[in-house]
Order: sequence, then structure tokens, then C-alpha cells
Amino acid sequence: MTNKFRYFIANWKMNGNLNSIKSINNVIFFAKRYNNKRFKIVYCPPYTLIDTFSKKLKKTNIAIGAQNCFFKSNYGPSTGQINAKMLRDVGAKFVIIGHSENRSLGEDDKTINKKIHSALNEKLIIIFCIGETLDQRKKKFTKKILTKQIINGLKKVKKNSKIILAYEPVWSIGSGLVPDNNELTNNIKLIKSVINRNTRIKNIRVLYGGSVNSANIKDLNKVNDIDGYLIGNTSLNSKKFIDIVKKIYI
Ligand code: PEP
Repeated sequence: MTNKFRYFIANWKMNGNLNSIKSINNVIFFAKRYNNKRFKIVYCPPYTLIDTFSKKLKKTNIAIGAQNCFFKSNYGPSTGQINAKMLRDVGAKFVIIGHSENRSLGEDDKTINKKIHSALNEKLIIIFCIGETLDQRKKKFTKKILTKQIINGLKKVKKNSKIILAYEPVWSIGSGLVPDNNELTNNIKLIKSVINRNTRIKNIRVLYGGSVNSANIKDLNKVNDIDGYLIGNTSLNSKKFIDIVKKIYI
């Protein structure tokens, strides 16, 4: 049992259709009954469901986020893109930027930095993802990679910007593997110190993401510096998602 505030961000990735909305009824009920401002649940469905989720979650204490946004703020000739203004318009309050699944498709630090600025201009809260690949970890490049991603991604970001960092080791996403608590503690400390030394952001919250489930949450949560979790696969099943929160708070 704990009273420390934490985020639980559900990243649905490319999953879900209009029917899936029913599946979150028990999460709404759970959040209403137990929340008491100790934790915040945020759903990040695919673009196609943001409006539907917003309407469904309007009078609840669950927030909505998007999984990405385009780097340009203005409306115009960018076929297939969605900008931060459009996300705000359909009720998103959060946006995930820099997810490794997008980095692996060619999204670079410079583009990520532009996306962060355009989303901040729209007053969205950024969930900024960073993490090392397995190969980088094996070569002991983790420190170098995380530092580079932070410095480049947060370039020129102002003092009171609403940014939450999500540390997601790429080798952990969807693999069932998680770093041990020692590695996790060291990497989170490193992240906080790089942010303190190189940006104007103070007291950033750092989430962990990568294969979080109800079996490993108790152990992960022993790492005191973790301010919440970004949860992919397990968040698609409402019962399993709630179980994660229950293991910490109830
Ligand atoms: C993610 O992709 O953000 C993630 C955490 O995925 P999973 O929980 O499925 O590893």
C-alpha cells in the first residue's frame, strides 16, 4: 500500500474498434471508486477512437491522450497527418511522443523535438519516450543513448513545460523482459540527473514502460523513483490493467 501519486498510461497502439469502448466500463467504475487523486489513468487509443473515448470519459476522472502527432502546428497540405491542434479539438490532453515503434520507422530526435514544441503550444501534456535497444545495452551505450535522446528531444523546452518522461527500454517492450531493479534505479537516476543538468525542467516525473503486468508490478514498484507506468499489451485487457493498479494501491 502506498500513497505516492502515479500515472497509469494505457497505450493501445494499433488496436481497438468502436466495439472496444465497452471493454473499459469496469476501468471507469474502478477509477471512480478508488481513485481519490492517488493515481491518474490515461487512455491513449488510436486516432480513430479518440473522439469516442473522449465522449465516453467526459464525466470521469480518466483522461485521454494520443499516441503521436505531426510536427507541424498549422493546418495545410500534409496528407494523412494529424496535428496537436486536432488532437486538442477531439479532447486529448496528453500525447505520447518519441515512442520507439515510431523511432524505428525513422522518426529522429530533431522531428521529436519539433513535435514536442508543437504539442506544448497546444497545451498538451507530453509523454516523452526514450530507451536503449538491446544491442546498445549490450555495448554499454545506454548512458550515451539516453543522454542524447534527452538533450536533443528537449532542446529549447521552457522551464514549466508539461513533460512526463517515459523510460522504455526497447528490448523490454512486448518481450516479457524487464530490467532488474538495480538497472532500473540507475537508469532513472541518470535520466533525472541529465534532465537537471541539461534542461530547464525541474522535478520531472519519470514513468517506466515495457512488459508491465500484474505479476511484475510489485517488484518494479520497489523502485521508489518511478512515478507511474506506460502499459501497452496488458492495458488492452481491462481486468489485467486494473489488477496492476490494485497491486499497488488496494
Ligand atoms: C509500449 O509499447 O509503450 C509498451 C509499454 O508496451 P508493452 O507494455 O506491451 O511492452
